[in-house]
Amino acid sequence: MEKVPVWVDEERCKGCDICVSLCPAGVLSMRLDSHKVLGKVIEVSFPQSCIGCKECELHCPDFAIFVAEKGDYSFAKISFEAQERGKRIKENGFILPQGERV
Ligand code: SF4
Ligand code: SF4
Repeated sequence: MEKVPVWVDEERCKGCDICVSLCPAGVLSMRLDSHKVLGKVIEVSFPQSCIGCKECELHCPDFAIFVAEKGDYSFAKISFEAQERGKRIKENGFILPQGERV
């Protein structure tokens, strides 16, 4: 399997936004999903920006998000660009703004 820094179990995610609100690097966002109770589900939108801080994994109430171990993945360093993207996602109700995807 290809190594990834962070992955999710969509079945467990209830769409509470907590992980997106805590991610300092604009990695995560919510995707609209009409099948979910709150109408949205977590998405790893920019895995290449993950710094491996584990804030998401530590605070997810449903154990739906997982982060690789430091030795298993070469995480990014935090960048201004990633921080600014994270702010835009939060300001947009935790949904990835139109045009943000590369
Ligand atoms: S480990 Fe940190 S940087 Fe990576 S997705 Fe989770 S909160 Fe964001
Ligand atoms: S904290 Fe967990 S349950 Fe809440 S949106 Fe993130 S992955 Fe889903």
